[in-house]
Amino acid sequence: MPLYRDEAIVLRTHKLGEADRIITLLTRHHGRVRAVARGVRRTSSRWGSRLEPFTHVDLMIAEGRTLDVITQADTLTPFHGDLGNDYERYTAGTAMLETAERLATEDKQPALQQFLLLVGGLRAMASRQHTAGQILDSYLLRSMAVAGYAPSFDHCTRCGEPGPHRWLNPSAGGVLCSDCRLPGSATPAAETIAVLGALLAGDWPAVEAAEPRHLKEASGVVAAYVAWHLERGLRSLAYVER
Ligand SMILES: [Zn+2]
Repeated sequence: MPLYRDEAIVLRTHKLGEADRIITLLTRHHGRVRAVARGVRRTSSRWGSRLEPFTHVDLMIAEGRTLDVITQADTLTPFHGDLGNDYERYTAGTAMLETAERLATEDKQPALQQFLLLVGGLRAMASRQHTAGQILDSYLLRSMAVAGYAPSFDHCTRCGEPGPHRWLNPSAGGVLCSDCRLPGSATPAAETIAVLGALLAGDWPAVEAAEPRHLKEASGVVAAYVAWHLERGLRSLAYVER
């Protein structure tokens, strides 16, 4: 079997047979990959802990006819150790892993930008640079943008008229001017729309300066945006306290 080497974040695992697991990965060079790890559920397994969700690993993988097989795994960053004992960061991180898996819609389609965003987001989560909610919201907006669902919080999403605009509609992809506004559009505080733009741009000084109520309102908008664009929404987002 031909072998390849790649670096990955473990997104999810599930049981296969008596002792094996199928590991879902987001890799640097091959996009989303599902591969079998043989024997990892045996207590004598040398590498079971290296293939837990959140772990950043260096892998050797053998290409199989149906499923690839992991032949070697070395831990690069044990993010699960940093997140596993902090409920808030763990649930926010889990929503990030689910988003990454959902946005990489096809196996083995390279998704380098998604990989880099996820590694950066998990690193920020583990190092407690910002609150868990701020990191998650910024990650969700940016990963949606990379996937082709870039929201606009400045120009009107329909006619391009420069903002700021008052009306906001997740189904339309962001803010709308008074000519283009759709029935049922929300009218969040102007500060909330500004903080959404800062979260999308990764403008942390502006995010940190925002008031809690505007950050909270922004989280609601992000959740609605994700729910609209990802069919069935995100299951794990329900566990994130807002
Ligand atoms: Zn317009």
